[in-house]
Amino acid sequence: MSDIEVTGIERTLERIESRLTGPTRAYVTRRAQAVPAQPGQGAPAVQPTDEEVLTNLRARLEIAQAARTEARNDLPLSAADPGGDAALLLDFTRRVADALRGADAPGFAVGELRRTLAAWSKGEGAPAHALVDSVVNGLVRRTRERTLAAARAAQEASQPRVRPVRTNEEVLHDVITRKRGEAGPSYDPEYRNATQPGDVKSVLVVAGVDHHGANGRGDRLATITVDLIERLTDRQEKWTVTGCAEVAALNRYLLAAAYPDADAALRAFTGGTVTGAVISTLSLYGRTADKPGSWDVRQPCHQCQQWLKALRITVHAKGARS
Ligand SMILES: [Zn+2]
Repeated sequence: MSDIEVTGIERTLERIESRLTGPTRAYVTRRAQAVPAQPGQGAPAVQPTDEEVLTNLRARLEIAQAARTEARNDLPLSAADPGGDAALLLDFTRRVADALRGADAPGFAVGELRRTLAAWSKGEGAPAHALVDSVVNGLVRRTRERTLAAARAAQEASQPRVRPVRTNEEVLHDVITRKRGEAGPSYDPEYRNATQPGDVKSVLVVAGVDHHGANGRGDRLATITVDLIERLTDRQEKWTVTGCAEVAALNRYLLAAAYPDADAALRAFTGGTVTGAVISTLSLYGRTADKPGSWDVRQPCHQCQQWLKALRITVHAKGARS
């Protein structure tokens, strides 16, 4: 049988499934859940009750009727011609419907019905019986496949999700993009010709975590930060460690990491404990009393470049305006 034919039969089975009533779906599900008998283990076959025999037979009748509708519409059920299949199914449905007539009446001989149908299915009814079996088996297989797929999906859903590891560069890029959209500090005429506190801001990313700092707010710097920066820079006359946004960002990191002192922090950065740290700095350009200005990347000052280099922190300043 070619793949195209298999696909066609699957589509037909899908259409049959969609027509089935609740009790017939339940019959297919019971079959799908039944544990197949293992050869050689010889578990004694459990004889179905009369009621079960009738329930199952009615379900098979409904499946055969639904299959016949599809075969009459020229949809494939087997490798044979749908016209031939439709004729076999008509034979089956007539035979079973006749046999079930009066089954609800008290004293109906279910045993007799079973023997009659069994004899028919082994004789002239064998091809029709085999065709209905193949349709039922197809429906059972599809139900099993869905159950397995659902179980797999449930298992996957219960697995702990592996959080994708974001690089320091990705974190930095996202944070900087977000900060470009922030409003700057309100305009202060006192700083008309100079940088005003809060209009330079820096983001330092270490081990995937961002630490932020702003300029002119460094009077709260920790001792460890002042010690470390003073050790790593040749201070120029006009520079103070309390002024730079980069220093403020480093201060935040050092406090979060809780190093005991500047020596320990320096060892972490130069001895391989901290690797791949990145930093970027934004400055507010063109802000006046009337205009909000815009944030753009700038280079760290010469002093900051000294300590950043000493601590092996990579500066991201692509497209810097100054
Ligand atoms: Zn600086």
